[in-house]
Amino acid sequence: MLTIGAHMSIAKGLARTAENVVAMEANTMQIFSRNPRGSNFKVPEEREVEHFQRIRREHGFGPLLAHAPYTLNLASNQDRVYEFACTVIREDVARMDQLGMELLVFHPGSHTGIGEKAGIRNIAAGLNQAVTGAENIQVLLETMSGKGTEIGWRFEQLREIREQTEHPEKIGICLDTCHLFAAGYDIVRDLDGVLEEFDRVLGLPLLRAIHLNDSLMPLGSRKDRHAVIGGGQIGLEPLLAVLRHPALRELPFFLETPRDDAGHREEIRMLREELGE
Ligand code: FE
Ligand code: FE
Ligand code: ZN
Repeated sequence: MLTIGAHMSIAKGLARTAENVVAMEANTMQIFSRNPRGSNFKVPEEREVEHFQRIRREHGFGPLLAHAPYTLNLASNQDRVYEFACTVIREDVARMDQLGMELLVFHPGSHTGIGEKAGIRNIAAGLNQAVTGAENIQVLLETMSGKGTEIGWRFEQLREIREQTEHPEKIGICLDTCHLFAAGYDIVRDLDGVLEEFDRVLGLPLLRAIHLNDSLMPLGSRKDRHAVIGGGQIGLEPLLAVLRHPALRELPFFLETPRDDAGHREEIRMLREELGE
């Protein structure tokens, strides 16, 4: 059976969010590891966490994904920006591991002029402060659209980051279909070719999660604008092909389409129906 969920707000608490996952007939979820724009996080109460753990166990949720804040830039050469990013990623790897989240994804960062090589070195050094090798959580690099000076829109860049880490066994990849397409990987006409390239450069076993989004912007536009499933330049059939692909179908899928929980519930139902579930 398909493992699918959506990005969800935990404003009403972890347990309530898990109940909403069940209500929307999903079996996983993505949450922010802390306030996506600020630096704040709320430590949940023990009872809240226990309730959350009970719900996910009873309903057999698949791997759960935490997303680090967007504001974090581990590629930066500016001391304060870099220190902030290092602190956040270190704290959140530890916090999300302790919470029992299986996966934490983050945007590798933007080099903002210092060049790709220096940016990649900074990212790996930041990861090396955060990942001890003793945690259960997998830290995922997200494939990016390549806007501005973003790093991580080419598979080779992700390989380079990973190769510079001390615990590469803890570092995996999260594919975002919108970003992939915007970066120029043609998953509409040649999904097999893209996955072969991924396998050659990184290795398919490193894939741990898929962000399932349509793209408002065309192939190779290097612009990051998510669209609802079937409402963008990728279209429904190619996204169904991603869900059905033998190399991908066992992975957890996460919708980050511009819809609320009720809208995501509809998308999940529609996708399951299309897949004959
Ligand atoms: Fe993301
Ligand atoms: Fe994404
Ligand atoms: Zn995006």
